[in-house]
Amino acid sequence: MLFKTHLAFGILLWLIIKPYFNINNYLFLSIIILTSLLPDIDKSNSLLGKKIKPISFIIEKLFGHRKLFHSLLFWTVISALIWRYAGKPYAIITLLGISSHLIADALTKQGINFLYPVSQFRIAGFIETGSLLETIFLLTIIGTIIITILF
Ligand SMILES: [Zn+2]
Repeated sequence: MLFKTHLAFGILLWLIIKPYFNINNYLFLSIIILTSLLPDIDKSNSLLGKKIKPISFIIEKLFGHRKLFHSLLFWTVISALIWRYAGKPYAIITLLGISSHLIADALTKQGINFLYPVSQFRIAGFIETGSLLETIFLLTIIGTIIITILF
């Protein structure tokens, strides 16, 4: 999925879950935006990757795109560390932000291996990245965001 789709999906997630967390709204939103985009750090020509090209280039070469950095297993380990050093709420929202990215990517034809590197099982959908279908998906998310804010 494209940067803007992940961003919109992250914002929708934040709107839905923010009543359940006692964290400063701006900090909360910042963490959700960062984590909903972070997995694409493994792709040097993604919008996030371009901003930190040397780092993302190394990660892409070492780990590959949509492998380790798109593994729920990997991010669960990272979240466990966050839980240990920053606290439970930060660990949970990190995992939720990352999950929003992985779920959106799992809807694409390329799919996601949630349990990489332990399993080869891949979940894939039917949306082509950057296609009309993705635009419709994005507009649906934006529509849901507007409805959530208004009602
Ligand atoms: Zn991705």
